[in-house]
Amino acid sequence: MQALFFENELIIKNIPIPEPEPGEVLVKVLYSAICNTDLEIIKGYMGFRGVLGHEFTGRVISDKHPLEGKTVVGEINCSCGRCYLCLSGRRTHCTGRTVLGIAGHQGVFADFISLPAENLHIVPDTLEGPLAVFTEPLAAAVEIFEQLHMKPSKPVFIFGAGKLGLLVSMVARLQGFDYTTFDISDEKASFASGLGLNAKPLSELEPGEKAEVCIDCTGSSAGLELALSHLWPGGTLVLKTTVAEPAKPDLNSIVINEFTILGSRCGLFKPALRLLERKLVDPSPLISEKFAFNDIIKAFECAQKPSSHKIIIEHNA
Ligand SMILES: [Zn+2]
Ligand SMILES: [Zn+2]
Repeated sequence: MQALFFENELIIKNIPIPEPEPGEVLVKVLYSAICNTDLEIIKGYMGFRGVLGHEFTGRVISDKHPLEGKTVVGEINCSCGRCYLCLSGRRTHCTGRTVLGIAGHQGVFADFISLPAENLHIVPDTLEGPLAVFTEPLAAAVEIFEQLHMKPSKPVFIFGAGKLGLLVSMVARLQGFDYTTFDISDEKASFASGLGLNAKPLSELEPGEKAEVCIDCTGSSAGLELALSHLWPGGTLVLKTTVAEPAKPDLNSIVINEFTILGSRCGLFKPALRLLERKLVDPSPLISEKFAFNDIIKAFECAQKPSSHKIIIEHNA
């Protein structure tokens, strides 16, 4: 089968179709999407070598499996189910976990993947395949609100109007929060405003303006310090950014201001799928372009343009 491999560069390779392990099923990938994490991996994040990609919609093809023929999306952490963290309900932190296209597990930029059946969620018929691809990043956005119970009366600043920042903003809007989304790029801020989000260019944020919760979705190591500088003492900083080059925050300011720093990664798929199915979050304006799988290297070039949002790969095109 064809797969996009990352060694020191991206190349399309012919590799064997994966053999499902016990508990796993074989999935034909229909659509996938390029995430910022993929772009960071090719800059050195996680030191991953292999088939990239973790956002997908696929069809189960394993014979006689109850999911056979179903359109599915899949959670990206493959866990053991037996360790302390799995048994205490923290499966995404399993000590022996592998992560699709990020750590120790073949990714989805390929014709087929093999995944634990328990990771899969059936996509409702009313949800189109390219939109279902957004389940994983939307779950990551919803995770913030699963972790942190924010007060609707308190101001929230979201830094970064990229792919994840827009999804986080859409979920914040849905819940009636007093949120403002800032982006260093005027174009990205006005794109967000065009979606009906409360967004402004970062240049309009005064140094003394502060919020109770700041969410860093900048995808830049400078985002942490920026977000901290706009947080009220006692406030919470939610960190969604993972970058190849780590940030060096001033820890004194965290102590003096009694800030809470909350790391936030993968979220639950069920609430994200529900938001998409009920059309409470519509990610379709976030699709910048679609490429056939054979053009995936061109798709990566396009994804690196600052003006790009989500790039969708059509595996059957
Ligand atoms: Zn992602
Ligand atoms: Zn485990």
